Amino acid sequence: MIPVRGYEGQKVAVLGLGRSGLATAAALQAGGAIPLVWDDNAPARALAADKGYSLVDLTRNDALRDGVSALIASPGIPHLYPAPHPAVAHALRAGVPVDNDIGLFFRSFATPEWSAFERAPRIIAVTGSNGKSTTSALLHHILQEAGKPCQLAGNIGRAVLDMDPAHDGEVVVLELSSYQTELARSLTPDIAVFTNLSPDHLERHGGIGGYFAAKRRLFAEGGPDRSVIGVEEVEGRFLANQMAVGGADDQVIRISTLEKLTGAGWSVFARKGFLSEYRKGRQVGAIDLRNMPGLPGVHNHQNACAAYAAVRTLGVAPKVIENALRSFKGLPHRCQIIGERGGVVFVNDSKATNADSAAKSLQAFERVRWIAGGQAKAGGISALAPHLGHVAKAYLIGQSAAEFAESLGNVPHELCETMEKAVYQAAKDAESGDVVLLAPAAASFDQYDNFEQRGDEFVRIVSTLA
Ligand code: ADP
Repeated sequence: MIPVRGYEGQKVAVLGLGRSGLATAAALQAGGAIPLVWDDNAPARALAADKGYSLVDLTRNDALRDGVSALIASPGIPHLYPAPHPAVAHALRAGVPVDNDIGLFFRSFATPEWSAFERAPRIIAVTGSNGKSTTSALLHHILQEAGKPCQLAGNIGRAVLDMDPAHDGEVVVLELSSYQTELARSLTPDIAVFTNLSPDHLERHGGIGGYFAAKRRLFAEGGPDRSVIGVEEVEGRFLANQMAVGGADDQVIRISTLEKLTGAGWSVFARKGFLSEYRKGRQVGAIDLRNMPGLPGVHNHQNACAAYAAVRTLGVAPKVIENALRSFKGLPHRCQIIGERGGVVFVNDSKATNADSAAKSLQAFERVRWIAGGQAKAGGISALAPHLGHVAKAYLIGQSAAEFAESLGNVPHELCETMEKAVYQAAKDAESGDVVLLAPAAASFDQYDNFEQRGDEFVRIVSTLA
């Protein structure tokens, strides 16, 4: 645990008692603060009461008037748009600072003991619309393989304040969502990574400008020593331009899977499955990504470029990175190869909950038996029309099956309703060389609790196939 510093003997309100909220309450207490906790959800409150925390109804108008030093909000709770949660609204009116666990972490991580360290710990923070988890997990894996002490936390796995205090020379990898970067009052990574930008969570940020502004906060001028920035969208190009002093600046590493970046600065790009690193107009590293089992598809090549660039700033050698990329297993439910039966490969991309991410995995494989459907997002799969060239046949499940069938037009498809029927039918039709891909392009909530449960069921059914 990282004890929170700066609030000794003071009351600090904690709103939201999930994984990060409970870790925050514990870390505040460990630092000598008095946490006052609340959640709108009764079972979450009961759990916190069991752990001995003081419950205070923070939605009451006067709850924050009585000498509360700060309100720490969980990422799932709106702090601005579409409207602040009532407790946040009270804090804004009462002038009580609103922060989150990420802000507390950045203020508390460095301790006086660090003065005895030979190498100060470094923090890599990863944000972007897609690929954050994969890039963060990949970074952690490369650092482990390179023999560097490291920890992984944030939006992935562990809450930040639940991490262990730093070791000498340690590298911390944080995955940060736009909700987290927007609210944190301190945000000072040593290396900041921005993978890409596509519209998402717009209701929480008042539109695309607010969404980009939230992610950009990681790159406050004078902030990171090094910035790794995906320049496939205009926002990334703008950000790289703002962070760099000039074209030959090597504080910014530009990454792309769309174009060769061979200018005077520092860049990492992947074209036709080959990753290249250029510095000062010369190639200084190259890796063949085509047969990396944990990184199928161009979108994963983008993640590989981002992770490669970030660890290069720490001096990890290309050969070490190459071996680590090869041994990376991929993250569950994200374009993960889960098995093979008679030349047919099965891939679980249950996390592809929208058309955009499904499009990426459809492009990653040559001949696809595509399991899709669930609770449709706005627009359904109409945007996927240009990406259906690799689909041999679609097997439609869930609420959206009929709607998706209509959008598919002439593309062969079958209404299967359940995952079980879809997997059996796809496996029966498949020929050697085909990929049976679960990439639903829809939320899971019509048939499952979450995308993990949906992916687990797919894996279980595949394991029963002869
Ligand atoms: P995040 O943490 O940003 O949601 P994940 O790594 O969990 O990203 O991947 C989420 C979904 O997006 C998965 O379906 C995955 O296959 C797809 N994806 C992964 N990396 C990228 C990328 N760089 N660009 C676009 N889509 C991606």
